[in-house]
Amino acid sequence: MHDPDERDALRPPEGKAEDTRSASDSLPLCPSAQPEMESSVVFGVVGGSVEEPRLAYLKEPQPVTDEILELSGPVKPTEVFRFAAPCAGSGCKHFDGADCSLAKRTVSMLPAAVNKIPPCRIRPRCRWWRQEGVAACMRCPVVVTENYRSTEEQRRVADPPVGKGGFLCHES
Ligand code: SF4
Repeated sequence: MHDPDERDALRPPEGKAEDTRSASDSLPLCPSAQPEMESSVVFGVVGGSVEEPRLAYLKEPQPVTDEILELSGPVKPTEVFRFAAPCAGSGCKHFDGADCSLAKRTVSMLPAAVNKIPPCRIRPRCRWWRQEGVAACMRCPVVVTENYRSTEEQRRVADPPVGKGGFLCHES
């Protein structure tokens, strides 16, 4: 028996239902975006421990503001928050012309981190979900966009790496 969030997650990615929305509203969202990207929102806060990060998903994604960015304190916002923004497509080094290669590597190289679908509000528009389905969501909670204490495995997934490792969307 699935809870409501899980039922949403298991639904096929939206198709025609989105045709009535504006073009920008239906663009897929990158779930490892940068705060300075246009229309970027905060949708999660990194919790857990350095060794085992766990994303806490916000009930409502928040627009990026200077006040929110300042909350990350001495570290970069991308080490503390997860941002979602319209996928840069061919403007991103992870885009292979059809798919997000970062999402592919995340699913193929990292083990599932949770056994329950996270309660994520951006799911209907998430590129990773649309492309990889539930498998991406089961690994998403351990993704830290810029993680300077990432494991060797995480660094290989994030290739090309950022700093000492991270899952940052790379705009060319
Ligand atoms: S991969 Fe799944 S849990 Fe992660 S942001 Fe996308 S929809 Fe949400």
